[in-house]
Amino acid sequence: MSMPLGDRPKPLHLYIRTFGCQMNEYDSLRVRRLLAPLGYEPVADIEEADLIFLNTCSVREKAEQKVLSFIGALRRLKERKPHLKIVAAGCVAQQLGEKLLNRFDHLDAVVGTRGVGSIAQVLEKIELEGVRSVCMPEENPPEPDEGGREMFGSGDLTAPVTVMQGCNNFCTYCIVPYVRGPERSRPVADILHEIECLEASGVREVLLLGQNVNSYGSGLSDRITFAGLIRRIAENTGILRIRFTTSHPKDLTDDLMGCFAGVDKLCKHLHLPVQSGSDAVLARMRRRYTASDYMAKVERLRSICPDIALTSDVIVGFPGETGEDFRKTMDLLERVRFDNLFSFRYSDRPGTQAAGFADKVDPKIGLQRLIELQAYQAEVTQQKNLAEIGLVREVLVEGASKASNGQMSGRTTHNRIVNFDAPSDLCGKIQRVEITGAYSHSLKGDIMGWVDDSACPETNILNRKVLTFPKPC
Ligand code: SF4
Repeated sequence: MSMPLGDRPKPLHLYIRTFGCQMNEYDSLRVRRLLAPLGYEPVADIEEADLIFLNTCSVREKAEQKVLSFIGALRRLKERKPHLKIVAAGCVAQQLGEKLLNRFDHLDAVVGTRGVGSIAQVLEKIELEGVRSVCMPEENPPEPDEGGREMFGSGDLTAPVTVMQGCNNFCTYCIVPYVRGPERSRPVADILHEIECLEASGVREVLLLGQNVNSYGSGLSDRITFAGLIRRIAENTGILRIRFTTSHPKDLTDDLMGCFAGVDKLCKHLHLPVQSGSDAVLARMRRRYTASDYMAKVERLRSICPDIALTSDVIVGFPGETGEDFRKTMDLLERVRFDNLFSFRYSDRPGTQAAGFADKVDPKIGLQRLIELQAYQAEVTQQKNLAEIGLVREVLVEGASKASNGQMSGRTTHNRIVNFDAPSDLCGKIQRVEITGAYSHSLKGDIMGWVDDSACPETNILNRKVLTFPKPC
């Protein structure tokens, strides 16, 4: 039997690898926080780890294979470091449960999507009882106090905040409702408290997360919608920017669209997954809207907020998708002209309804369609980026540029990355930047001045006064 965690020499090294969506990113941050009191400190080098925490994704076949081969490759590390503990969590863990533990005998625990809050107890069990375990609670445990200050106290300027979990929609290709369960919204007071803590730790921008944020509020005793939540956050916290993801088109309300024009802190970017431009395919996907419904929402949104950036998801090669269906998707892309697009070739996900559908599309045809669609979108994205040249955009400075040596980097309200020369003490400030160049994934620019982002203490409304650069002390 090994030494109890509390008695082990500190610090213990925690290596976290996160696959998939922002919900997993958020859960990984929770794990980082929940394990800190046990003496775990995050490390970037897997070789140094005492504990490897893998947060897995099963949304696409490719993602799942990547996870499984990553777990397989850890066997050699475990042989060299027998005290190493390896825990797999997330959607693959939820789906495979004990089977995952049986398949990899070097894995110490499997934790389902509702078990992340119990990670400390899982580890204690492994250490104290020396047994491998599966933690798959049926229900979500009561939300622990996330205490954002401790959780994100490491200089992060942007942070995710989960506002709801789960999904009731059961799109036929999607495993999420099975692995994440039904929709559950967090109480407003909890969310506001977390954001206040984040703000106190230096966070300037929050990304509100949920599988379908537009359903926020159902089941809560507070009578509140997602638009209402955004307004409460804008009015009651000093956070500078608010973003959110993901929205189901059928639930996008006029009230929420109005926030893009009426709530200054809400970034002008909406990710609105369309998935297909063919009504027949949308029906088989059980998306509950038609291509015209989608276009009507886009037109309404653009009439309310003309310069909003729109991004989307598309699946090509869905079972039964004909050449004509695919052309309808291309037509829709041409009509909307998305700022950016995440596109995928359909793959069967075991346990979903679509996995049992006949008329599977030949993978070669699916690939050809994907290549055509991606080539078209790359051109549109490039044109949209080029159109930014000469404009002055407000950019939240986030840190050193990953792509451009010695420069700083930040994002516009439209979620475009901009690299520019600036002193590092401008991190966390909103700068006015003139866009001088465009690439396929980013822009470059010159700082024009800075925005006085202090908020009026009574109204918490930002003072948007633009000052010239350099900023006064
Ligand atoms: S809305 Fe559809 S695609 Fe999105 S999480 Fe729910 S079931 Fe999956």
